[in-house]
Parts: sequence; structure tokens; C-alpha cells
Amino acid sequence: MKQCSICGQSFPSSHFVYGGKQTNSYCQDCNREDRRIRSENGGSGERARAAVARWRAKMQASWK
Ligand SMILES: [Zn+2]
Repeated sequence: MKQCSICGQSFPSSHFVYGGKQTNSYCQDCNREDRRIRSENGGSGERARAAVARWRAKMQASWK
């Protein structure tokens, strides 16, 4: 088991394997949400980064 750095939940290690990497620091669900927020905010650039940062901070505030 491994703890996700965004939602704080623990999942089997297989949940952290995606994008060609074996050891991502957040789970597949958070990765999907991260990508969704980015694409809704232009994909890349300052606006997408800021939106993702806000979401991460909100998620982490609920368990950190
Ligand atoms: Zn997660």
C-alpha cells in the first residue's frame, strides 16, 4: 500500500503506475482529475497550473 500525496488515501502500488512511470506520487484517480482540470483550463500555462494548485491545496487541506 502507498499513500497518495493529493487525496491522502492509501492504495495498492498498482494504483500509482501510469504514464510510463512505476512510482507516481499520486493515485490514478487524482491523475485523471489533474488532467481534467488542466484541460478545462487551457491544458498548460499559468491558468491551468493555478487551477491544479488550488485543487491540490483543497484536497490536501482535508487530510493533512
Ligand atoms: Zn489520490
